[in-house]
Amino acid sequence: MGREHHAHLRAAPGVRAALLALLALLLLALATVPAGAGSHGYAGNTGNTGYDGNNRGGDAARAVRAHEAARERVERLRESDALASTIKDAERRRRTVRDGLWDRLRAGARGSGDPVAVDPSGRGGRCRFGQRSRSPQPQPQSKPQSQPKPEPESEPKSEPKPASESESESADESRADRWTAPMRRYWLSAGYAAKGSRWARRHTGQDFAVNSGTPVYAVGTGTVRATTCGDGFGNQVLIRHGDGYFTQYAHLSRIDVRKDQRVTAGQRIGLSGASGNVTGPHLHFEVRITPYLGSEVAPLPWLRRKAVLVSGTPAAR
Ligand SMILES: [Zn+2]
Repeated sequence: MGREHHAHLRAAPGVRAALLALLALLLLALATVPAGAGSHGYAGNTGNTGYDGNNRGGDAARAVRAHEAARERVERLRESDALASTIKDAERRRRTVRDGLWDRLRAGARGSGDPVAVDPSGRGGRCRFGQRSRSPQPQPQSKPQSQPKPEPESEPKSEPKPASESESESADESRADRWTAPMRRYWLSAGYAAKGSRWARRHTGQDFAVNSGTPVYAVGTGTVRATTCGDGFGNQVLIRHGDGYFTQYAHLSRIDVRKDQRVTAGQRIGLSGASGNVTGPHLHFEVRITPYLGSEVAPLPWLRRKAVLVSGTPAAR
């Protein structure tokens, strides 16, 4: 950003004034967000896993809000036919906010044993699927390939940096315009940011109450970022989407996808279950701006922005 940007500032005081005004607006927008809004219990459903979230307090919540404000700005600029360079600057700002949070959360997640950070290779392949589900429905279309191959033992070195993830965003963007709900029939149970004894702070996702063995679908086109098992989230799938967001599907009884697998909107990725720290079978669905706990956004408004309406009553098929 440096050289070109600074030259620009020197050459055009008008542009500089405009940029400062935009910055002021952004700060104002951030300041007017109520302090409690978006505060989250990163330790969703993980009360006994040792995630203490030392580094995921108000700082992370503020960064997430800053990211969402930056994203809204990018979208407004796109809609208003702004100059390409203006949009690019705004997009760069969004990614800078996210990348800073990304690095911090990743370091903290590794330290606290979050399997997504500790073993992003997707050792889900080693989980014994199905043993936790009480009455899985027979799935006629299930294939033997749904048992992923074990991953190599070696410590994965290929943890993608935000930069490489960012690069793939634009490439995916045009294809990732179809979105869907993660389940077909459900009751909504615990909502985002709900308080309760089950969560260290607040609930970090949206729960869909369903019987074990109910198909779970990718909400959009993307790539499986990780499949893990054994922590409070039980068997979980994390998908990276073309718009830069991640969706998490937890407590599954079975995982049908492998790390790095491409998935499309509505593709079945597993079956719901009661694995991990739960009081009953349900899907825990989360939307994050990084792969890590502590960067989640409100999932239902996020789906609504993609024209996916999730209501409290069982959805018609
Ligand atoms: Zn939940």
